[in-house]
Amino acid sequence: MRRWNYLLASMLMLMPVLTLANGAVWSESSERIELAGEIDYWAESDGPASLDSVIALGDKEWQSDGGESISLGYSDTVYWFRFPTANGTDAPKSLYLEIAYPVLDRVEFYLLDDGRLLESQVLGDKQHFDERPVHHRNFLVPLKLPPGESRMVYLRVKTTSSMQVPLTLWEPDAFFIAEQSRTMFEGLYYGIVLVMILYNLFVFRAVGERSFLYYVGYIAAMPLFLASLHGVSFQYLWPSATWWNDQAIIVFLNLTLVFGALFSLRFLNVRRHNHPVLNLVMVNLIVIAGGLAAAGLVVPYSHMILATILVAFFGCSVMLIIGVVRWIKQDPAARYYTVAWVFMLFGGILMAFSKFTLLPRNFLTENATQIGSAIGVILLSVALADRLNQEKVRAFEAQQKLLSEERKARLAQAKILHIQKEANAQLEQRVQSRTQDLESLNEQLKELSSTDALTGLKNRGHFDRVFKSAVVRAYRFEQTLSLMVLDIDHFKDFNDTYGHLVGDDCLQMVAACIGQYVTRPQDLAARYGGEEFVVLLPDTPEQGAVRVAEKIREKIEETGFRVSEETLHLTISIGICSVRPDHADATKEIFAKADEALYEAKGRGRNRVVSGSENFPIPSDSPA
Ligand code: GH3
Ligand code: MG
Ligand code: MG
Repeated sequence: MRRWNYLLASMLMLMPVLTLANGAVWSESSERIELAGEIDYWAESDGPASLDSVIALGDKEWQSDGGESISLGYSDTVYWFRFPTANGTDAPKSLYLEIAYPVLDRVEFYLLDDGRLLESQVLGDKQHFDERPVHHRNFLVPLKLPPGESRMVYLRVKTTSSMQVPLTLWEPDAFFIAEQSRTMFEGLYYGIVLVMILYNLFVFRAVGERSFLYYVGYIAAMPLFLASLHGVSFQYLWPSATWWNDQAIIVFLNLTLVFGALFSLRFLNVRRHNHPVLNLVMVNLIVIAGGLAAAGLVVPYSHMILATILVAFFGCSVMLIIGVVRWIKQDPAARYYTVAWVFMLFGGILMAFSKFTLLPRNFLTENATQIGSAIGVILLSVALADRLNQEKVRAFEAQQKLLSEERKARLAQAKILHIQKEANAQLEQRVQSRTQDLESLNEQLKELSSTDALTGLKNRGHFDRVFKSAVVRAYRFEQTLSLMVLDIDHFKDFNDTYGHLVGDDCLQMVAACIGQYVTRPQDLAARYGGEEFVVLLPDTPEQGAVRVAEKIREKIEETGFRVSEETLHLTISIGICSVRPDHADATKEIFAKADEALYEAKGRGRNRVVSGSENFPIPSDSPA
């Protein structure tokens, strides 16, 4: 029951207030009141109007929006806004009126009590920041409402930016509580961006890839643009640069486009050869946005903002299209890029729509750019890292390919070398076998050249060589060497009688008889010339030589030689020299001695053996 009484009492108490004003009535439980629904506005179209004339306007002149926020787009028109407010409590209230659009050029604030001006204030970003009643990035006006009283607030707003006047009435505690979250949100955004700038600068320093530099330019320009739009940079960076504060929006938005486009071109590899049209569009975009950024330094904001917003809208669309096109073309970097761009673009579009009053002004549309750009910034950073990684992978693969090709080349070379080696070996083998053939041919040739054709014994040339070395050896080892010289007796007559052909047969017979008794391996029988023969017996004393000579002589004497009906007999005379040589080249002396002995044998009547060793200066082993 008491509750009902209380409610009734409250309602009765509120009655006069409610009748006074249907506007923003502050109750005990009020913390904030969004004023959009309570506001009337009037366009000051016929030149400047005084406060009094505006107060005097009939209710019909005023328009009301009734929506969630007041957004009247871009125009040169000055607008008046009014709203009533009342304190429905029984305590005095100190409130804040917040105008949450910090780029408005000039805001005149009037507080009236029943047509009587109580307070006035001039705000706007054409005023020095320090002149604000409350030092806040948004415009804040302290408002005192005595209990049960109602007031009327008039605002005259003049701006070259979008005509947005988001008004909120705050209970100070509630304002500071809400402010914490907003500050936290802002801090988070600028913190993320700052870290990303530093991180990508480091990466650029480390890898030298220009995409990172463009990206840093992009993520530096964009927050500066947003900070200018949200009054943050005016508060902290240039609180007294009232002219620049508007221009900064133009300059940084265009720089955002320039760096964004430069980054996109490089990052997505949009070149003249692979995407001529898109490349051309982007290059033009860069030139135009660059031109607008430069112009923003001198040309007033109002002349620039529409062009800038159009170029920004166009640029964002083109960059999104590029992302999609590159994605379709299977560029792996384009996935992150496109998703990032969708986020950023979405924020940008929401903001642009709200500026052109296509969307209401609220927390989402106001912060969409920041949320979108924070997500986009992170995604793009990931994309950059991903591309770097892919580049690394590609470089690694290229290196691997190069290595394997080199290995292949080396294998091929080794194979060629092997084949060459084999060919060389074959050639060598062939040469060797040819050489062997040649050598054996040579051997045969030598054999032939050292053999006497008629008798088959060794010839004189061969004898001379062997004799020479036999003498050297005998001298060296102090051995006795024997040499026989054999000559057929009266062979001239024989020849004359029977003819040369028969004579030749006889020579063969004699040679065969000699060969029969010259059997030791180192012994040598040779035809010395004509019908003279020599027998060399190394390491053989005189008796041995005489014995061999006698056997030969006897054998020849015995051997009958048949010529037609006749049996003929031949004899032979033999001279011997057996000696231990006193010097290495004693061949001539030895031969001369043997020859002498032969002549002696001839002289003594032929068919005999004579050893001439006794006449030799060095005595033989045993006397004859
Ligand atoms: P002597 O007993 O003094 O030795 O008398 P000889 O007739 O044998 O004299 P000499 O030793 O000077 O003989 C040389 C002769 O040997 C000349 C030649 O008629 C003969 N003669 C030399 N060489 C050959 C040959 O190759 N074939 C033939 N059939 N006879 C030869
Ligand atoms: Mg002779
Ligand atoms: Mg003779």
